[in-house]
Amino acid sequence: MNIREAREALKLYFGYERFRPMQEQIITNILNKKDVVVLMPTGGGKSICYQVPAVVMPGLCVVISPLIALMKDQVEALLTNGIQAAYINSSQSAEQQYTIENQCLNGELKLLYVSPEKLLSAGFLSFLKRINISLFAVDEAHCISAWGHDFRPEYTQLRALKQQFQTTPVVALTATADRLTQKDIQEQLWLQNPDVFVASFDRPNINLMVKPGKDRFNKITEFLERHYKQPGIIYCLSRKATESLANKLKTQGYNATYYHAGMSAQQRSKAQEAFLRDDVQVVCATVAFGMGIDKSNVRWVIHYNLPKNIEGYYQEIGRAGRDGAQSDALLFYSFADVMNMRNMLSEGDKAQTELQLVKLERMQQFAEAASCRRRILLQYFGETMDKDCGNCDICRNPPTTFDGTLIAQKALSAVARTQEKANIGLLIDVLRGSRSSQVLSAGYDKIKTYGAGRDVSTMDWNRYLHQMLNAGLLELAYDQNYALKLTDQSRQVLFEGKKVQMVKFEEAKQQEETVKPR
Ligand code: ADP
Ligand code: ZN
Repeated sequence: MNIREAREALKLYFGYERFRPMQEQIITNILNKKDVVVLMPTGGGKSICYQVPAVVMPGLCVVISPLIALMKDQVEALLTNGIQAAYINSSQSAEQQYTIENQCLNGELKLLYVSPEKLLSAGFLSFLKRINISLFAVDEAHCISAWGHDFRPEYTQLRALKQQFQTTPVVALTATADRLTQKDIQEQLWLQNPDVFVASFDRPNINLMVKPGKDRFNKITEFLERHYKQPGIIYCLSRKATESLANKLKTQGYNATYYHAGMSAQQRSKAQEAFLRDDVQVVCATVAFGMGIDKSNVRWVIHYNLPKNIEGYYQEIGRAGRDGAQSDALLFYSFADVMNMRNMLSEGDKAQTELQLVKLERMQQFAEAASCRRRILLQYFGETMDKDCGNCDICRNPPTTFDGTLIAQKALSAVARTQEKANIGLLIDVLRGSRSSQVLSAGYDKIKTYGAGRDVSTMDWNRYLHQMLNAGLLELAYDQNYALKLTDQSRQVLFEGKKVQMVKFEEAKQQEETVKPR
């Protein structure tokens, strides 16, 4: 097998003339039996990366996917293209499962989709041992990482794949993973020196905007005036909110409906189809809406509430503008929402709660940020832009900045002198010269930068540090107690005299103004 055969299969089965650039490299690796990690935004063409090898390699490709609802669609699409595929999961009768297992044993299938539960259920791996497996494809691979935003404990058992099938290549695919999650995927799956392919996550046609949450409804109707009859989605936090917002819009004459996981399957598919056919303009939905929906002309996405984390936000705005045409993403931000969300997140177990709160804080700082929003988003996924995007509210209306080099140097030097072990709270304590027991017991009151930032309030330090995170001047290690880490860029500031521009915050300014006269 070689890439030429793969190209022929692409043409024959999928009707495409050529691979997208990264697909070709990924497939070459797989054909050479190498493990691969693929990070590609939704719509980037991940499926082809394992479906084409599955067709040309002898044996069966096993695809692990947590989304049972999507398996059926995938399999149907493959069958339509003349590729023998099936799915197997616990929702099927024993007889159905038996039939499919027989097809596998008889070598009649090229692809088999399974849920992780099924894969790890008693006897299934030993059943697979009786079959010639060409490739394992782990879809939604970020679910394996406790540092990801959608951790599924059963995924961690997937290391069994490499334990039991040492020579079978594994390809891990995801559309959403921050840097630490990327690393974790490789380690957890026991991948052997995998090549990691990261496609650009930039969606330059999506205009990013954040507006204060006050008076949302009027802002939405104004927005809709400017998007006459253009289809779009409004993401709300609660099921109830989707219904009441849709009804309110309807009374104003808009063609709106709602969608959430509390509706019957029938109601949901009715809403979804109406949207796909452009029978309805606006869908007010919870985050349950959008997965697997292939509608290219969604012109806008509104977040009625702050999303839980940047991964979710990015995925949801990514439903807009798949056709490449200009689209708008509008996020409403209010501090009350943050508090609300904090309370909601604090209900889980302790370690997960802490992680979720840190991710929420990053999301909040994105909303409050005063530098190019796209830069912040891409930085989060490990991508650097060489210039600002020009297609976000900040780029269009840049705030005044000041020379923040000294502030940055103080912070970075404190990070270095605490051996990159301090988290944000502790670092601020050190900078402000706090005598907290944590500071004293670590001996941080003896380091040179102790108290060097007394003149800056705790709240402002928090914001400056997040500006630095947003700009890639610092990194947050979730796996080491959220310690702040230096980056290549921070070394340039510390040792090569690189200047840092910072933004003063509206609220901070307002407070100063109200405080001064007294
Ligand atoms: P993902 O799984 O990354 O979200 P898909 O695999 O569903 O993306 O692909 C997104 C779209 O791009 C699909 O309509 C797919 O058929 C199309 N596509 C993928 N690869 C190619 C290619 N090489 N040439 C043309 N279209 C492609
Ligand atoms: Zn920008």
